[in-house]
Amino acid sequence: MAGETIHGHRFFIGFGGKGANQCVQAARMGAKTAMVCKVGRDVFGNYYIQNFKNNGISTGNSQTVLHWENAIVIVAGANMLLGQEELQRALTAIVNAKVLVCQMARENHVKTIFNPAPAIADLCSDFYKASDVFCCNESEAELLTGLSVTSVEDASQVGLELLNKGCGSVIVTLGPQGCVVCQSTNMAPKHIPTTAVTAADATGAGDSFIGALAFYMAHYPTMPLEEMARRANLVAAMSVQTVGTQTSFPFQKDLPTELF
Ligand code: ATP
Repeated sequence: MAGETIHGHRFFIGFGGKGANQCVQAARMGAKTAMVCKVGRDVFGNYYIQNFKNNGISTGNSQTVLHWENAIVIVAGANMLLGQEELQRALTAIVNAKVLVCQMARENHVKTIFNPAPAIADLCSDFYKASDVFCCNESEAELLTGLSVTSVEDASQVGLELLNKGCGSVIVTLGPQGCVVCQSTNMAPKHIPTTAVTAADATGAGDSFIGALAFYMAHYPTMPLEEMARRANLVAAMSVQTVGTQTSFPFQKDLPTELF
């Protein structure tokens, strides 16, 4: 009941934000990364920035984090609070990146991954058209298309629907079933299964997947998307075997060498 004092059994605090999670996973795999975000000028903000530093992610000298020579740039969910000046500075980082996780910058030949989370039903059509890879989970796919997604076949169908909205490629993640990759309306969608693991906590699996995908797009630009998705599945499968979000994301040294 609201206002009631209850006994808790466990307390856990961890870093998050989808953009931050995705950036941390890409960095742990060995990508050069920068985070573009704004945080509060308080102790939490300081810890938040320190966490990026601890993961080898470039941070600027204030809340806005930039570096022109990075391979991957992630624009965080606090975008609405980013001012014109910070975004202008971020553009330099973005146009020199290999992969941008979010949207825009496509005209500068930066590959873009767009993750529509949290999804909104009436997403502006520009987001689809600006996405080289549009990557969503089942519930996001449902909200965006109005179609129910409970199977690989459903995911294939919504993938084609999203391709028709203008995305370059679409990946629909399916939890323990891996993902479906759709690259063209002339090609059959491809189900990429994953290995069976004992999941301890699947929170953040989607972010681990996207961070790994960004890593592969930056480091192996000619690798077929299906192969990148297969490998990203295996990275995310590793993350679900440990409790926590960023705490469960594997480092390069924890992963089999054949993933590199
Ligand atoms: P979250 O919101 O918790 O970050 P999500 O709903 O966005 O997750 P999912 O589709 O659940 O994302 O999972 C993303 C990827 O993680 C899957 O495509 C798969 O590769 C991997 N994965 C998730 N759950 C499992 C599992 N139980 N076993 C193996 N792999 C998993």
